[in-house]
Amino acid sequence: MEQKTDGTKVVIGRCETIEEYRSQYYAKHKEKIREQKKEWFQNNKERIYDKRKERVRCECGISVRYSYMGRHKKGLRHANRMDVINQC
Ligand SMILES: [Zn+2]
Repeated sequence: MEQKTDGTKVVIGRCETIEEYRSQYYAKHKEKIREQKKEWFQNNKERIYDKRKERVRCECGISVRYSYMGRHKKGLRHANRMDVINQC
């Protein structure tokens, strides 16, 4: 496949941009990509679930589950504790 730089845009084959090339590649291979993702998940699910259950300490000092961290940081308890910490 030919790849050359044309000023600011990259021309790959008949595609004008990388994004176009990627979306065409995805459309062509989506079944295969889906299978690969599924396989990767099957091979790594133990590790993924362990990671989700792992407890981590937030910067506010509270220990929360990794999967809950996103929600915790948007919560009132975290905001209140951070206020106290920032006042010190
Ligand atoms: Zn927190």
